[in-house]
Amino acid sequence: MKEQWALRIPVRDGEAVRKMAIIEGILDRTLKPRIENGCLLIPVTAKPCGATRTDFTENHAMEELVRHEQIGGLVILQDDDAAAAEKILAARPSVHTALFATSPIEGEFRTRTFKILAGIATTKTMYQEYGKRMQIDLNAAYFSARLASERQRILAQIHSAEKILDMFAGVGPFPVMFGSRASLVIANDINPEAVLLMQKNIRLNRLTNVIPMLGDARNLAEILSPMKLDRIIMNLPMNAPAFLSAAAPLTHPGTIMHLYALTDSTGEYSEDILRVFPNARITERMLHSYSPTSWHAVYDIEIA
Ligand code: SAM
Repeated sequence: MKEQWALRIPVRDGEAVRKMAIIEGILDRTLKPRIENGCLLIPVTAKPCGATRTDFTENHAMEELVRHEQIGGLVILQDDDAAAAEKILAARPSVHTALFATSPIEGEFRTRTFKILAGIATTKTMYQEYGKRMQIDLNAAYFSARLASERQRILAQIHSAEKILDMFAGVGPFPVMFGSRASLVIANDINPEAVLLMQKNIRLNRLTNVIPMLGDARNLAEILSPMKLDRIIMNLPMNAPAFLSAAAPLTHPGTIMHLYALTDSTGEYSEDILRVFPNARITERMLHSYSPTSWHAVYDIEIA
């Protein structure tokens, strides 16, 4: 038995209140709801108005969780395993939905399709990263939390006068993170739904210096010239090197570019970079493995 806060409600309201507790991220799935004197007691992690502490039986369905990626209230499992998904939901009170990706990351928008394994039928969630809040919809636009520490690494380099361009901004994780430090961030993406979510995320974080743009990164130089940027983010791992020449007119000596790429060998893209930016200073860092033979890398490029 374990003591926890309890919502005491009529049994007939049980399902509606349980759903509300899931959405608010307060349902304690590690404990089993129970009935007492004709009322249903639902265990919750935060103290609701008028709640009392009560004893609950522990829910042992939560042991031995399979590997999964968590984004806000969503988890993505590696296997189409509904039982494993239920276990994760039971163990993690903040998770409302377990998903299985039924396609690889694909197409120009870099999105996936999903099957709902357990929980509420949605691909939307609210995600928090180092104090910033972002609305995510994995069905509509790409998002991954795996670059969270990479964003902090870059944030630490940014000075207050910087003008930054994110050529492939998605729902805006880099721009939202950098907006409170830089003087200006231009955030572009070709996916209209990503740009709509990005607009919401800019507003959610009360940023007034992040400009969302909907368009093909190939046209940015024509639209933005003669503007020059101090930092350019290129996070399109399958194809970013092909956009180096599109970015070139927007650079000045001293511009720093962060280009994300999937590589099979160290220095794979150095020649492509030097062809567009002769004498650039290049530092390559491995971020995480992508497959047994390839990895996700970032090239930091300082224009000479
Ligand atoms: N930077 C975001 C993040 O970290 O979550 C999104 C990265 S995602 C790997 C790549 C993004 O590039 C997608 O949102 C996709 O819509 C966008 N994209 C693909 N081709 C593009 C193009 N030609 N011009 C602008 N954006 C493009």
